[in-house]
Amino acid sequence: MPLPNGIRTVADRLRAAHLTKQEDRLRRRVLRNFASGATPKLATLAEQSRIPPVQIQQILRRLASRDLLVLDTRGNTVLAAYPFSATPTPHRVHLSGREVFALCAVDALGITAMLNEDARISSRCAHCGSAVEVQAQPESVTRYLPLETVVWFPTSEEDDSCPVAESRCPNISFFCSNDHLDAWRMGREEPSGVALSLNEAFEAGREIFGSLLAEPSTQYTRRTSWPSR
Ligand SMILES: [Zn+2]
Repeated sequence: MPLPNGIRTVADRLRAAHLTKQEDRLRRRVLRNFASGATPKLATLAEQSRIPPVQIQQILRRLASRDLLVLDTRGNTVLAAYPFSATPTPHRVHLSGREVFALCAVDALGITAMLNEDARISSRCAHCGSAVEVQAQPESVTRYLPLETVVWFPTSEEDDSCPVAESRCPNISFFCSNDHLDAWRMGREEPSGVALSLNEAFEAGREIFGSLLAEPSTQYTRRTSWPSR
């Protein structure tokens, strides 16, 4: 993994959450709703899963408490579920027949592996605003511009009191060049973090999100094979 040691990703949080089968089914349903281009709402999720809304809301709150998604204050709408955002971000991801927004640059790059489909990412340099375009297949980046594009991954914004979506994600960005990353950092008292090449950032996204939609049969193999002592 090209990410620095000690970074807790959504994949780490998911493993640590030890979700029940029902909770995990709803978590995946939320992701599939986002992937289809829809914002997951309480009523829709209840209808789709045939579980009473009050129970759906309890599960969503538990998923939110483990920072697997972000709920609105009333608990009726899922505002974000890594890697997706219900509200527009600088990272627009074009999939076949629909568009979604990713919470950060690495999340945008992980979507293609998670959904196992080709994607085109339209984003911008966080310093100068110029366009950054990436075309990717589940296994690799096929094309990107500008060729000097790098991804900044901060290591200093970890704050347990709020979701990563609000603390770290906003600063995981594309930059059109190392020079513009440096200029951006200079204007911000040089926060700590790592500059990833586009391919390194893609690999990080693939590792974090590649198995996030996997069915429990594969996901829980190790847990269920533990000896019962
Ligand atoms: Zn720039």
